[in-house]
Amino acid sequence: GGGLVTTVAIDGPAGSGKSSVARRAAERLGFHLLDTGAAYRSLAWLVLERGLDPSVEADVLGVLDDFDYAVDVSGPVQRFSVGGVDVSDAIRTERISGAVSGVARVPAVREAVNVRFRALIAEADPGIVVEGRDITTVVAPDADVRILLTADEDVRIRRRIGDVGDDAGVAERLSARDRSDNQVVDFMTPAPGVTLVDSTHLDFDETVQAVVELVRT
Ligand code: C5P
Repeated sequence: GGGLVTTVAIDGPAGSGKSSVARRAAERLGFHLLDTGAAYRSLAWLVLERGLDPSVEADVLGVLDDFDYAVDVSGPVQRFSVGGVDVSDAIRTERISGAVSGVARVPAVREAVNVRFRALIAEADPGIVVEGRDITTVVAPDADVRILLTADEDVRIRRRIGDVGDDAGVAERLSARDRSDNQVVDFMTPAPGVTLVDSTHLDFDETVQAVVELVRT
């Protein structure tokens, strides 16, 4: 213990509670926060905005050069914009959730956003919590604290339904997105050196506490 922690990397599946846990942990630590999924969602938004198909690699590559993505990582409530348009709310729709995996599986997309993520991580002072699917393994494998946050699938689905209301399609779409995403990066099994935090039997505050304790020991 006692070492100076500046980067906390958190990976996990959809509905693991990752984003709310990361946000609260960042607040408690006084750290910046980077939600990497929002970048993929914002690119999916731009592809759809242009009337293109996010499942077609050429369509995605065609807008990548125009992807002028801006995020302020310094506050707990993040705003995201693309070409000056605030997309913070627009990227949370089911339409974007259904489109985002196609965008995220394009290797050139991953390389481009990772360059941005690493620059934001390098600039963060005094530290940053970064959440996504490949943070512990690809984006920041040297992070001081690396966490894989999971929960049993039925618990994740129940929590997600609690968020969006009782929508029969939600559970199915959540599992389908995880299966598709997990073919690109494995975020179901912790890589060597990554601490597994299983929130199946933890409530929100207990999960945040588990993360904060890993940073403060
Ligand atoms: O975390 P969130 O659900 O907002 O992520 C949206 C999508 O972005 C994921 O379903 C995945 O396709 C992609 N993603 C990724 N790598 C990350 C973060 C998100 O591929 N580090």
